[in-house]
Amino acid sequence: MTALVNELPTPETGLVPFDALSRETYREKGWWTGRTLPDVLLRAAESHADRVALVTPEVTWTYAEMFAEAARFGAGLSRRVGVRPGDAVMFQMGNVAETIVSYLGCLLAGARPVCTLPQHGVREIGLLAEHVGAQVLLTQGDFGGGRLAAQAQHLQAEGRIRDVVVARGTAFAGATSYGEVIDAGADADPAAMVALLSDPDGIAVFQLSGGTTGLPKVAPRLHEEYAYNSLAWAQAMGYGPESRLLYPLPVMHNAGISLAVQPAILAGAQLVLAPSADIESLLELITQHRIDVLPMMPPALAIRLLESPGANAADLGGVREFVVGGQKLPVEVAERLRDELGIRVRQMFGMAEGMFLLTPEAAGEAVSHHTVGAPISPGDEIRILDTFGEHEVEDGQIGELAARGPYTIRGYYRAEAHNRTSFTEDGFYRTGDLARRHVTPDGVFYSIEGRIKDVINRGVEKIHAEEVEELIVQHPSVTTAALVAMPDLVLGERGCAYLVLENDAEPLDVASLGAHLLALGLAKYKLPERVEIVTALPLTNVGKVSKKALREDIQSRMAAEQGVVR
Ligand code: AMP
Repeated sequence: MTALVNELPTPETGLVPFDALSRETYREKGWWTGRTLPDVLLRAAESHADRVALVTPEVTWTYAEMFAEAARFGAGLSRRVGVRPGDAVMFQMGNVAETIVSYLGCLLAGARPVCTLPQHGVREIGLLAEHVGAQVLLTQGDFGGGRLAAQAQHLQAEGRIRDVVVARGTAFAGATSYGEVIDAGADADPAAMVALLSDPDGIAVFQLSGGTTGLPKVAPRLHEEYAYNSLAWAQAMGYGPESRLLYPLPVMHNAGISLAVQPAILAGAQLVLAPSADIESLLELITQHRIDVLPMMPPALAIRLLESPGANAADLGGVREFVVGGQKLPVEVAERLRDELGIRVRQMFGMAEGMFLLTPEAAGEAVSHHTVGAPISPGDEIRILDTFGEHEVEDGQIGELAARGPYTIRGYYRAEAHNRTSFTEDGFYRTGDLARRHVTPDGVFYSIEGRIKDVINRGVEKIHAEEVEELIVQHPSVTTAALVAMPDLVLGERGCAYLVLENDAEPLDVASLGAHLLALGLAKYKLPERVEIVTALPLTNVGKVSKKALREDIQSRMAAEQGVVR
């Protein structure tokens, strides 16, 4: 019998265990089940085997069909590509059925999906693969005109990835095709595969944090807690076998897996995977599949919906749950959704590290328009901390949101030094977000009031300023650089680079700076969208670059350009 490699918590793995008392409590309460994630998912799928599980433009699969295909993929991955239980497998796949099959297939085979996004560049994929020790990369051949396959081929040629599996497209020399993997696992049985797995305490999935400095940190999601995260969400949202969910964002992101894919399976609901977030196609899918749940609409998409000539209250009338999250929702947008499209929004706050908050279904607008609600599990604990992270601030005051609970990580993977500052001594994760606790007669709710961490939230895609700055200063003309958020009506924020140049250097602009960063393998969505050349960067009184001063500077420059007197 093959057991999952029991990865002991050591500085080397960076796997910080839940303490024995928490584990015991979480199991006593029934939040944790002592079973692996694929076991929990498969049992749920077996109980609604004939219901429709997944709809894409190419497939309509029942739960039985989806898990049978996933088992073939998982078994084939072991036989054809040599993936062993405990191995990390990189994903660079879009919203297609093959992505769901390979994700579930990896879980059934005891392998650990590494949930990178198709937007990531060769630099991020290479460094992350090295960090988690991944040897295998799954890629989508027809994505972005072959861009992902080209990245995979490049990484394999450099010896940074051993095996590449190409879905939807011709496998290049040295790669294996998705079809070959499926064929190699033709006789696989999901239940038999799950029976071989043990170690519910171990890592099931690697998610990427949107909330730290430098390269995205890796959030190790453990079997029991990740399964519970999805169950708690399905319960909070009231998903059931009749629910029909539409998910239009990159599905491998934690939000896709934890708000849509896994909760849908646990509830026996139907998931319609939208290949893109184009509003007109989303409207078509909503009517065609009688969608009643949109589990995560970023504000940017909500704004595009409001601006779309095709959107009207009648067509959206069947949408029972319209959840906006991932970024601050401007109150005016919530009001316009109500007035123009008859939509009552619910807000959520979520993160790859765990903790989800959600406004209650019956909440009035004071709560649903102005807060992100309350945590979804009775086991969730929240503290609003002072600047030193030591004491809680008074109710109603702004402080750093810190979270602990049955599905919030206790440490990043192999990031010992970072873990010392990101977690309190008693295991609360310091989110780097600013929040306020509101104690009301109807309950306790939280609002998000800003951010301490140096991250730009571009339509929910996170850009870590430090990562981009390190690459900008590799340009021979640049002495120092700072990347800050500039306001954007639709995306919320976009990146603006302030540059100090070497004497006599040719001035850089958005295009030449972008070309430099792309050549270093940076993802396109992280490229600065405005460049300001300055003679010096403003400093704080302790001599650090003052991002606050730069954010104010760019805001007043933009206001002046629009002729607004501030
Ligand atoms: P990720 O790990 O990529 O899901 O990003 C998590 C981060 O997104 C959080 O730490 C917040 O900075 C931000 N975020 C998520 N939901 C919200 C929200 N409703 N309002 C404001 N920021 C949010």
